[in-house]
Amino acid sequence: MHLSLTAASTALFSTWVFVENQGVLFDAGDGVSASLGLKSGKVRDVFVTHADRDHLCGLLQFNQLNAKDGQPRIHYPKDCGSFPALQDFVTRFDPQSGPATWRGLTPGERVDVGNDHHVEARASEHVRVEGQVKALDYTLCVVRRSLRPEFRGLPGSEIASLRKQHGEDAITAERIDRLLGYSGDAPQLDPEHWSGVDVLIHEATFLEPETTRGAHANLPQVVRAAATLDLKALVLLHFSARYKRAEIEAAIVEHAQAAQPCFPIHAVYPGQVATDILSSKPVWSPNA
Ligand SMILES: [Zn+2]
Repeated sequence: MHLSLTAASTALFSTWVFVENQGVLFDAGDGVSASLGLKSGKVRDVFVTHADRDHLCGLLQFNQLNAKDGQPRIHYPKDCGSFPALQDFVTRFDPQSGPATWRGLTPGERVDVGNDHHVEARASEHVRVEGQVKALDYTLCVVRRSLRPEFRGLPGSEIASLRKQHGEDAITAERIDRLLGYSGDAPQLDPEHWSGVDVLIHEATFLEPETTRGAHANLPQVVRAAATLDLKALVLLHFSARYKRAEIEAAIVEHAQAAQPCFPIHAVYPGQVATDILSSKPVWSPNA
């Protein structure tokens, strides 16, 4: 399935990623409603990675425009007290809107987002607090069922009767495809963590390898680690506003040429809204 991704991201200021096919919004930085316009009404589930302002400040307007009768559902790290505080404020500030559903998630939880898709929450290393998980990252997955090998080639009528006799689980096997990973903020790209994901959206705040300030990743490490994965595409975002677009492009090409990943690399540049990212021309592609 082609994923239609729209995103804007500048470190410190605002980050959000809209997966239009699934009505899913990852993070809700400032300007998300203004940029999506009426499309913001298509969001059914919001997954916020952590409580830094650049990832949640868009929730106020988003809630006023879209919250009604328990929709949409706003998910966040359960150990993070900022979200219940914000929910409480929003409820009093905008009593005529809503309510939305606010729901804290713990690592390993899966949220059904429709059409056999779910979003899995996992602990992120961006915020480290002893005994608590205050930052999550998210993976969009789809559950597919396929006929078990021993039944392949049988006529449909026979399969139908076997299914009736023995049940669905005996006839078909379940497979989970990890379509899209979203890192939120992260100190580095951990290849083991993202193994098996088709498309990875990862932060790359700094272009210089030695910079790891504030638990953020740097581009050389991210490209090098991603190149060990079997991705279909890598989308980089959350660049620092100090970099110009041309600098970011040149750095991506330089490090991709060194690491030779087998997939295209896209970028979301500071201060810009990128639409249908996976259909746009990549910054670097293995066949170029
Ligand atoms: Zn951030």
